[in-house]
Amino acid sequence: MAQTIDGKRISQEMKDELKARVAALAEEGKEATLAVIQVGDDAASAVYVNNKKKACAYIGIKSVSHELPEETTEEELLALIDHLNRDDAVNGILVQLPLPAHIDEDKVIRAIDPAKDVDGFHPENVGKLVIGEPGFVSCTPAGIIQLLKRSGIAIAGKRCVVVGRSNIVGKPMAILMLRENATVTVAHSKTKDLPDLCREADILIVAIGKPQFITADYIKEGAVVIDVGIHRDEKNRLCGDVDYEAVAPHASAITPVPGGVGPMTIAMLMYNCVETML
Ligand code: NDP
Repeated sequence: MAQTIDGKRISQEMKDELKARVAALAEEGKEATLAVIQVGDDAASAVYVNNKKKACAYIGIKSVSHELPEETTEEELLALIDHLNRDDAVNGILVQLPLPAHIDEDKVIRAIDPAKDVDGFHPENVGKLVIGEPGFVSCTPAGIIQLLKRSGIAIAGKRCVVVGRSNIVGKPMAILMLRENATVTVAHSKTKDLPDLCREADILIVAIGKPQFITADYIKEGAVVIDVGIHRDEKNRLCGDVDYEAVAPHASAITPVPGGVGPMTIAMLMYNCVETML
């Protein structure tokens, strides 16, 4: 049976390391404040925002909430970001996505000062990632690298297939695996013969947003399987993009949902916040 890659344990380990670093930085008189902006009252967003604030409190970072009504205009949101960009007491700015349809997400992301862009979504940080310069890296893919490394899984020289090419998961994931010297293929909705391609992977990373889409047919015996998806199944239980029960017997290691990739996203956000203190 596959090794379970325990995101809950690894994220806790990271948060404890960060807590100790924040305490040491506090002794040097350094502190961090994260501004968290939520527009509208989407229930899932409210849960994510709350978890991020709880993680800040745990590691010793101050978080300041800006909960704006659904009818907030793009101009009002941009004005708030401009104000926070100029505020020296604010180290990091996080705008919870998705935003209401009348607000242009790309414009909002571009408005955040790249030096405060703890989500790593600003084109300047994405560009730095691509050319290998230091900058903020998107939290979910950065968390997956930590999951692999802290589970003792070697990456260099491995054949990696990333399924999904979104700007926040698939693309930065592929670049990070390349940086770790994997040989990387990126698949998407127009990819032909996806099961055959996936069966070439030593490390298969799935971020497609389709519940339990990846079955045993897609898996090479002994592959490492990382499942980014989060969904509710017909019985209202959480599940991923991978059919865990069917795939686990064929994998050497696999992330569960919940308790795999999800907790790492917040741990890496905290990591990025601590980076703003240095
Ligand atoms: P997007 O919807 O932005 O992207 C999905 C990608 O999957 C696209 O590139 C799409 O291809 C590709 N795709 C869709 N269907 C298929 C298919 N049948 N075969 C091959 N490729 C396909 O999703 P995200 O990247 O934002 O998120 C993916 C999943 O991860 C979601 O379930 C989301 O909830 C979850 N998630 C979890 C996080 C966590 O912290 N655990 C964080 C972020 C996301 P194309 O480009 O051709 O359309």
